[in-house]
Amino acid sequence: MTFKELNLREEILSAIGELGFEFPMPVQEKVIPFMLEKNSDLVALAQTGTGKTAAFGLPLLNMIDANRKQVQALVLAPTRELCIQISNDLKNFSKHLHTRVVPVYGGEDIRTQLKQLDQTPQIIVATPGRLIDLIERGKVKLENINYLVLDEADEMLNMGFKEDIETILKETPETRRTTLFSATMPAEIARIAKKYMKDHEEITVGSKNSGSDNVSHIYYVSQAKQRYLVLKRIVDLNPDIYGIVFCRTRQETKEVADHLMKDGYNADALHGDLSQAQRDTVMQKFRIRNIQLLVATDVAARGLDVSDLTHVINYNLPDDVEIYTHRSGRTGRANKKGVSVSIIHSKEKFKIKDIERMLRKNFEQQQIPNGLEVCKKQLFHMIDKMQQVEVNEEQISPYMDQIMKQLEYLDKSELLKRFVSLEFNRFLDYYKDAEDLNYHERERNSERGDRNDRGEKKGRRGDKMRLKINLGTREGINPSRLLGIINDIVGDKTITVGDIEVTNKFTFFDVFTDQMDKVINAFAGQKDIELGVARESKAYSESNGKRRAESGKRRTDRPYGNDGGYKRKSTGDDRKSSGNNWRSDNNNDRRSESRRKSSGSDKPWRNRR
Ligand code: AMP
Repeated sequence: MTFKELNLREEILSAIGELGFEFPMPVQEKVIPFMLEKNSDLVALAQTGTGKTAAFGLPLLNMIDANRKQVQALVLAPTRELCIQISNDLKNFSKHLHTRVVPVYGGEDIRTQLKQLDQTPQIIVATPGRLIDLIERGKVKLENINYLVLDEADEMLNMGFKEDIETILKETPETRRTTLFSATMPAEIARIAKKYMKDHEEITVGSKNSGSDNVSHIYYVSQAKQRYLVLKRIVDLNPDIYGIVFCRTRQETKEVADHLMKDGYNADALHGDLSQAQRDTVMQKFRIRNIQLLVATDVAARGLDVSDLTHVINYNLPDDVEIYTHRSGRTGRANKKGVSVSIIHSKEKFKIKDIERMLRKNFEQQQIPNGLEVCKKQLFHMIDKMQQVEVNEEQISPYMDQIMKQLEYLDKSELLKRFVSLEFNRFLDYYKDAEDLNYHERERNSERGDRNDRGEKKGRRGDKMRLKINLGTREGINPSRLLGIINDIVGDKTITVGDIEVTNKFTFFDVFTDQMDKVINAFAGQKDIELGVARESKAYSESNGKRRAESGKRRTDRPYGNDGGYKRKSTGDDRKSSGNNWRSDNNNDRRSESRRKSSGSDKPWRNRR
């Protein structure tokens, strides 16, 4: 399909031709005809970088009457940076039209924007907060708009703009046509679509919540304390890396960036403690590749739009799978390949499984490269660079005679060795005694001296899951009968069961997550027995005697086989809050540990015979 076939005006065709757009991208093929030909609302699920600005921008410009001096279209976007970018794109697309586009966003003197609005534009691109301010000042009137676009609607909700959006929607006429773009489809978006959109249709580019197909997802498992070393190794293994390292908190962001800079990497930090001007400077440096690695919080990175990142590194896994989708969607854009790397510790493997399930993508566990592999990669990268370097004959030739003379006693291989060593000794030195950063379960067990209740060293460790079965003391259940039942039904004596708690009606027990599905599936065929993931349990009381409903729930609210494992909403903050599911798992484990020690009735883990 060509843009011409999409029935766009000549002025638009020539403008996008000048921008180098030859063929419509998939989202444009679907959205442009819809907006031009149909009269209904639209929910479009598409990632950033898929060409969605042109997908809604081109038909908008096509339909707007430049002779009518009224605001006819409103585009709402979550951040000032996106707002500026959309506005610039629209201005480029409308280069040969007389349509006026004005962006309004927070963080800039409102007087400048008031002035720009003196002459009524046909299109306003706005962030919600600033727009409301302008509406309240009577400077913007939306009563005549024909088109409303909500861009990155999920991000707007994540950032807490829900009420603002609803306020703005009420300022617009019922007759408007609404197009909503979102990378993911959380329930709240569906609710907004239902409430505010008329008979809307849904278009999905790629699969829902799935992210781009151009992104491969890999992860490395190491001990949490070695995260930084792993990061360095990933960076060293990818000498041409151009990426964002996502951290959870501002503090962590600062620390990681400081370490990287101290260690000689071309990095900088982007977080909420920086002023807008400082953030702009860092982002600009990153855009022009003055900085190779940007260490950022999710919130601070929101406004950043860079199309050709090679890597996104999850220094920590985010709490929400949607945040993971957004992070990884920052690479693999505009038909380029990208890699989303996660550094996890062994207890987080189940999170990877959850994300895999929700994204319907396979994640590949890779071995953290050893020093030798990194050195080899760096060496050949240097050799490649040397092969490709442009030699400035004119400027080098006056020195060549003297250089040749000085080096004439060295043969080719000696010469090469020396040049390579110049750059390479640093790496060889650093990596000569580099330790293996991969997490090895067996070694770790023997380090810890973990033993089962017979005093034998445990063969395996991992995450545990609490299950609940509808059999209790009234059915005559005790721990050994429970083990017998599990033996009979699952028929696998290697299943490890621990922390059994029998109540009147139910029994709760822990199993390793990698064995959990087997247990649940085996019980699925049993007529009167119900077994599933526990939602609450007395066993999750803290040693101080309080009910640990909160953390017990967190631990057990991670449903398997459905999409609810990740928190749906983020606070939109740089994670100052502690309302963070996965991180508390560590605490849960620590607490469970102390609970087991403190409570005489808690059985240690046991291997069944
Ligand atoms: P967006 O998702 O709108 O941010 O677009 C991502 C990038 O793709 C931007 O740099 C656009 O300029 C570019 N782009 C959009 N549509 C096309 C197209 N049809 N052909 C080539 N590049 C495009």
